[in-house]
Amino acid sequence: MPDLRELYQEVILDHSRNPRNFRKLEPADRSADGTNPLCGDRVTLYVRLEGDRIAEVGFQGQGCAISKSSASMMTEAVKGKTEGEARSLFEGFHEMVTGRGAGDAKALGKLTVFSGVSEFPARVKCASLAWHTLKAALDKSDKVTME
Ligand code: ZN
Repeated sequence: MPDLRELYQEVILDHSRNPRNFRKLEPADRSADGTNPLCGDRVTLYVRLEGDRIAEVGFQGQGCAISKSSASMMTEAVKGKTEGEARSLFEGFHEMVTGRGAGDAKALGKLTVFSGVSEFPARVKCASLAWHTLKAALDKSDKVTME
């Protein structure tokens, strides 16, 4: 059986090297800039809505492997979901990476590769930057800074 941590690392490296939905959406219904000054991660998120469903989502930016892969996997996870579903997924993800709860592993699916981040407080912001930026975009706020 492969070591779970190695597998997690592979998924994260794959997404950081080949980020999915790495593009600007024009036009976009919502967009927001997120920065994580501690690590230097920056992400710009674009969302196209159909009703309250996230029809398209894309991102651009630069940062560490964790922030980039998390953004990539976040876009895959929320595409096609309603705003409400995306928000509750974020809550579960946030619980998991901050170690405050296990989150709903079934709903989180592949996103559980980031569960190990809870052991590295400095990395929690890297992993959740894209999610906070998505929330800002949905809340019609144009920027968010991780304090
Ligand atoms: Zn980072």
